[in-house]
Amino acid sequence: MSRALLDGEPVALRAEVAWPLPPLPVADEGAYTIRVTDRLVEPGEREAVLRPPTLVVGVGASKGAPVDEVLALVEGALREAGLSAASVAELATVDAKAGEEGLVEAARRLGVPLVTYGAGELARVDVPNPSDAPLAAVGTPSVAEAAALMGGGELLVPKRKSAARPAMATCAVVRRPGRGRLAVVGLGPGARDLLTPRAKDELRRASVLVGLDQYVDQIRDLLRPGTRVLESGLGAEEERARTAVAEARRGQAVALIGSGDAGVYAMASPALAEASDDIDVAGVPGVTAALAAGAILGAPLGHDHVSISLSDLHTPWEVIERRVRAAAEADIVVTFYNPRSRGRDWQLPKALAILAEHREPATPVGVVRNASRADESSRLTTLAALDPATVDMMTVVTVGNTATREIAGRMVTPRGYRWQEETP
Ligand code: SAH
Repeated sequence: MSRALLDGEPVALRAEVAWPLPPLPVADEGAYTIRVTDRLVEPGEREAVLRPPTLVVGVGASKGAPVDEVLALVEGALREAGLSAASVAELATVDAKAGEEGLVEAARRLGVPLVTYGAGELARVDVPNPSDAPLAAVGTPSVAEAAALMGGGELLVPKRKSAARPAMATCAVVRRPGRGRLAVVGLGPGARDLLTPRAKDELRRASVLVGLDQYVDQIRDLLRPGTRVLESGLGAEEERARTAVAEARRGQAVALIGSGDAGVYAMASPALAEASDDIDVAGVPGVTAALAAGAILGAPLGHDHVSISLSDLHTPWEVIERRVRAAAEADIVVTFYNPRSRGRDWQLPKALAILAEHREPATPVGVVRNASRADESSRLTTLAALDPATVDMMTVVTVGNTATREIAGRMVTPRGYRWQEETP
């Protein structure tokens, strides 16, 4: 048995290799294949089969059940289901049988632990074949199936009895669910070369992709053939989050995508609010709209800055206004996301008016629409001259602080008032 890392988790793997090994081919890379499977396959020439510890065998036994009967039952069940005994991770039974010699010895010979559960716990597991006999004997209507299913998973072999008469042992086989993975992937503002290599890797790794239809279209060509795509329209955010987490909990590698950075006014928080600790989570940062726009405008974010969403769909306007006011008073550069839509047109003028209470009318304001997309446009204007009608939901608006200047057509916020003196 050897140790290996599977998705970062150490696992014990058993290897079966065709023996003797054929001579190593020269300059023939890729001629050896490693298969990782719990299925009963024989390694072919130049092939190694690694056995992941995926199977749990639930066992029940009457007092004095012989080890040979238990082993014959377990091995027969695995063989008939086309499963390898080398992938058995554990035998599982009820506490009352923890010292049952036939089970203890069977586990020892298989080289796996005998794990036991209380009758009460087992009784709560939903099983296809409950019966009265174990209920009378140990207090649960199922031992083999319930013990095998304790950790969840797929029942591959329902309860069966040994062939001996009288039968003194039962068993059931479950494949444990793989640990799922949820990657929350930011796609960047639009341009393919602003999508990070890491985001690309995660998209390629995904077995399930969850996202808004327009973003899915943006990266469909990067997916592996066979990736299941679950796309939905605008607004179905909570459903998307729930779907992504549910798929990960089923053992899938899920990529949940969002434009810009998926953690900025996007899917990461609703998804992680749903996610329990039984899945792995990986966040892949993306270039958020404020940064993409900043690079187009010049250097507007050179000093302290804040992003404020003007969408009052999920946030009461009072809260938004309080934050705009705080930014105004603190002389912080502000980037407005979700600045204006057809049905939401008074918030931007109101927010600009609050900033204007603390900043000059000539304060530079950058308006960037569709940053890094085919129809990108940008304009540099001022607090007094900005026409809100030029702003829509594809736009971010960055308002400078009292030190921000327009220099050679670019928006520049100095790094600080003393910075240049500090530099040697
Ligand atoms: N997660 C995204 C933001 C989602 S909120 C990100 O990190 O960028 C949606 C708002 O983001 C839009 O209303 C718009 O204000 C802004 N936005 C997103 N992409 C943009 C782009 N390419 N150009 C300009 N604004 C953009």
